[in-house]
Amino acid sequence: MFDKILIANRGEIALRVIRACREMGIQSVAVHSTADSDAMHVRMADESVCIGPPSGAQSYLSIPAIISACEITGAQAIHPGYGFLSENANFVQIVEDHSLTFIGPTAEHIRVMGDKITAKDTMKELGVPCVPGSDGGVPDLAAAKKIGAEIGYPVIIKATAGGGGRGMKVAQTADDMEQAFMTARAEGKAAFGNDEVYIEKYLTTPRHIEIQVFGDGKGNAVHLGERDCSLQRRHQKVFEEAPGPCITPEERARIGKTCADAVAKINYIGAGTIEFLYENGEFYFIEMNTRLQVEHPVTEGIFGVDLVREQIRVAAGLPMSFGQDDLTINGHSIEVRINAEKLPNFAPCPGKITQYHAPGGLGVRMDSALYDGYSIPPYYDSLIGKLIVHGRDRPEALARLSRALGELIVDGVDTTVPLFHALLEEKDIHTGDYNIHWLEKWLETNLVSG
Ligand code: ADP
Repeated sequence: MFDKILIANRGEIALRVIRACREMGIQSVAVHSTADSDAMHVRMADESVCIGPPSGAQSYLSIPAIISACEITGAQAIHPGYGFLSENANFVQIVEDHSLTFIGPTAEHIRVMGDKITAKDTMKELGVPCVPGSDGGVPDLAAAKKIGAEIGYPVIIKATAGGGGRGMKVAQTADDMEQAFMTARAEGKAAFGNDEVYIEKYLTTPRHIEIQVFGDGKGNAVHLGERDCSLQRRHQKVFEEAPGPCITPEERARIGKTCADAVAKINYIGAGTIEFLYENGEFYFIEMNTRLQVEHPVTEGIFGVDLVREQIRVAAGLPMSFGQDDLTINGHSIEVRINAEKLPNFAPCPGKITQYHAPGGLGVRMDSALYDGYSIPPYYDSLIGKLIVHGRDRPEALARLSRALGELIVDGVDTTVPLFHALLEEKDIHTGDYNIHWLEKWLETNLVSG
């Protein structure tokens, strides 16, 4: 086992990893930008190293600075968290070239799954069902129009290198194709340096269902059921739960096994998430994330396992501490993402926290790096906390969420908490009757203000 792990991240996910390290008796090293000198992850880690100025590009994304921090502190492994360098195959290669261990999958798996076209081809070959669409990249507008006519409108044009909900455009009819195609391409180029796009049938009423998988890199893998992340704004998740309210045990077993078998076959190591759209009882693969997800705590909630601990174990060459038969679902878990944003427009709202009080009690978990007097810097993601609740069933989890949100105090900045209070008043949230478009539509008619 490692003696010391460096965490190449910040915020709540850095704390999450530090906590796992501490429980395992492993020393932790925080890295931070000059804007984060007073951040909680710096205070909580055993050691810390300043790696650069505020801009992410010059600090949390600076590969030389992070490798140097490992050398200075003697850390043997790097946990990347999510975002930043977590899905950067080049980084993984460099980590390995320095005889360090990357806590995550191989560079090759990251590369294959990071390109949405090769990911889809690979999954298709492994027997995973995919959304109908173009076979690979679409070279020009004429080809795009031909494919649109073949698969039928509406279609979605997606940047091969896209992520975080960017680089995707919907064409409702053939008339929209030119604009959608050009915009998706331009966004792909601007945000990801790659203008290749592909086309998929646009599903009109799907749910977003994702399967958590975990492999040991030696041909063994399990699945940890699904998460339903259908409540999204601008293709970004805001409310996630497990198990999915509409998935039957038989469906879970079937799609779960398909996913576990697929990752076992490629000797996948560590945590991964295979994302699907789910419509009329069918699953359609959209992408795989080769890292820990923001919403992993809901899976931990219902299975009672520590996914970060498992990531560290398999990276150190140890076997997973559970097999498929050890994994049984207990109750229901829900997570809401609390962002420092001003409603109704969700404008980022950094600033000083004048008062912070985290909710507690049975079945409540608050993953946050906030504290009284902390100043949220303006340079990074606006996620400031995740409130995760667990109950014996969905109604109990929802009641607990409402209660816990009521206890939470975050003063000094605007947050997305009022959105969740308002959502919990909605009948559809209680019946679980929504798809990926529900929240956008609801927001059009319900102006929630902070
Ligand atoms: P990203 O990598 O940017 O997260 P994804 O491919 O995972 O992109 O898609 C993100 C979201 O976009 C999905 O959860 C869904 O809401 C929507 N989406 C993606 N593909 C389709 C599709 N074929 N039809 C309808 N909605 C889609």
